[in-house]
Amino acid sequence: MPADRPADRPAAPESDLRTLIPQYGGFARQAVVLNPEPGEPDMRESSLGGGLLWPADEPWPYCAQEGHWTFGPDWRNRTEILPGAVPMMPILQLYARDVPGVEFPEGTDLLQLVWCALNHDEDPGPVVPRLHWRNEAQVVAGGLLSEIPAAGETEYDEDNIPRPSTLTPAVAEDLPRWTDLPEDLRRDLEQRLGSPGNRFVRPPDANIIATKAGGWPAWTQPADWPDCACGQRMEHLVTITGDIQLGDCGGVYFFHCRRCPGVPWDWRFDCH
Ligand SMILES: [Zn+2]
Ligand SMILES: [Zn+2]
Repeated sequence: MPADRPADRPAAPESDLRTLIPQYGGFARQAVVLNPEPGEPDMRESSLGGGLLWPADEPWPYCAQEGHWTFGPDWRNRTEILPGAVPMMPILQLYARDVPGVEFPEGTDLLQLVWCALNHDEDPGPVVPRLHWRNEAQVVAGGLLSEIPAAGETEYDEDNIPRPSTLTPAVAEDLPRWTDLPEDLRRDLEQRLGSPGNRFVRPPDANIIATKAGGWPAWTQPADWPDCACGQRMEHLVTITGDIQLGDCGGVYFFHCRRCPGVPWDWRFDCH
């Protein structure tokens, strides 16, 4: 028995979920792992933290929440930001051609995510995101916004902004996190693997823990799917994890419902 494991703790199962539950493989979905690498992405490329292809006739988004503050360059000093709206930051841009299998709403081929990178007194989460679907050709034909505000030198929490990165998308088979299994399967496994003291070590699952589009969310905590107003569970669209610090945030997850007009969307985050 390894020294770093308390004696009363059961050993982790050697097999992963694919061997333990025959049905597990049936949950496979295609994901596109985005593989960001720091670089100088062009706005005509998919990117994390890069420049966005933004239409000239649409003002750059600002966050109008009250009480912005930042840790600034020194995390011990909480720095208040002057009152007023602050520009949102480009987070993710995905062209449909780079994420095969991810279905874009009709007439669109470009997905953009921005969020407010400052902290808020009344924070709904580590970030306040917005999501935009666009048509690349239409944006280009209408002209691009030339004045995109940049982050001040020390104004933003660098933790909350990704380094400008190019993407090398790769299609992969994705399987759900352990916590995303249907309740009955999870209970059954817990009973099979539990020790007399009711201690339980999760078997490894085959979920891809990475920034990705499509597939399954890479939850750090128990699954927390949003429901659409139509009553149906939303679909997973994008997971951002590991590529931005976001304090002790585990990941930020985006979902949408393609059944409903206007493609409603929602987001979740979780912590380590
Ligand atoms: Zn804000
Ligand atoms: Zn819906």
